[in-house]
Amino acid sequence: MTRLRSLTLHVALVLSAGCSARQRVATETAVAEVLISDQQEQALGLQVHQELDKKGVKYLEDPVVVGYVQGIVDKLALPARRDRKDVRLHLHVIDDAKTVNAFATPGGHLYVYTALLSTADSEAEVAGVLAHEIGHVVGRHSARQMVHAYGLEAIASLALGKNPGLLQQVVAGVAANGLLLAHGRGEESEADDYAVRYTSAVGYDPKGIAVFFGKLLQKQGRTPQVLTWLSTHAATEDRIAHVNEVIAREGLGGTETGAERLAPIKQRLGGAK
Ligand code: ZN
Repeated sequence: MTRLRSLTLHVALVLSAGCSARQRVATETAVAEVLISDQQEQALGLQVHQELDKKGVKYLEDPVVVGYVQGIVDKLALPARRDRKDVRLHLHVIDDAKTVNAFATPGGHLYVYTALLSTADSEAEVAGVLAHEIGHVVGRHSARQMVHAYGLEAIASLALGKNPGLLQQVVAGVAANGLLLAHGRGEESEADDYAVRYTSAVGYDPKGIAVFFGKLLQKQGRTPQVLTWLSTHAATEDRIAHVNEVIAREGLGGTETGAERLAPIKQRLGGAK
């Protein structure tokens, strides 16, 4: 069966069965997979990276810190590859002590700001945020967002290389906002689910992401750092409750916090804030 036919069948099945959240996710992911190939995602991700370079984004060069974060990404890549075969992840650490942020772009590019590392108190929190961003990659959320935002037809033409104007628009949007578009609540919740599963799978305390959300909520309004991650990740009590519920329901274990490993990294970055 061709991919398109299997997709059509899938959509038909979902429509006839009524659309549960899980089915909707499966359908959107299938649509994104058919419309935007891995190579096209890679090309888009590279263009976004070049656009960020043009904007003068500064990357951290300290090999100790970059190597440390890369080590966390490498661990999380193992469970991620079970969900999206051969997914490639490219880490970029942005040298910015004032902006607490992290985001993912097409092609598996993960961007994390040094201020986010300084704000966390354990490796499990950093891993929770990274695993959440990896979840957006695994779920092909940026491709799904593009389908939502520009429509099937436009994205299909972009995928065929027939719409350079739109491509430029998409790339500029990502570079300007640091993300493609704000992800919807469903995608955020889905990425949180990936975050707790992946962190737990490699032995971290899966509550790391909830702890980090709680911390940002407390800091809101009384910190000089710009909590950009909060603006795209509304850290409501609901969300923290959802994370804890998934951990309980799926019996997710993991006790490692790695606070002692993050401490010297924070010191290199100029002390805890
Ligand atoms: Zn997110």
